[in-house]
Amino acid sequence: MAKNFYRPTRMCVACRDKHTQENLLRLRCIDGELSAFSGVGRSFYFCKVCLDDEKKIAKALMRQCRSGKKDELMSKLKEIVINE
Ligand SMILES: [Zn+2]
Repeated sequence: MAKNFYRPTRMCVACRDKHTQENLLRLRCIDGELSAFSGVGRSFYFCKVCLDDEKKIAKALMRQCRSGKKDELMSKLKEIVINE
């Protein structure tokens, strides 16, 4: 099967695989505070496969946010996922 070249892909920061936009959740972190991406600033992505893997996500989140507040980050993430 031919590859789909015209659809842009982004890298998931947890698995480092590339995915198309519909399979990704775009987030940002400012001063250790996680939020949904709102159009400005630096952002990062998680793919939907990784979102089911809490351990993997928690590790990547703490790295992206440069924060050790794992529980806080994870509950915020769940809030964002529900509101997507
Ligand atoms: Zn992933």
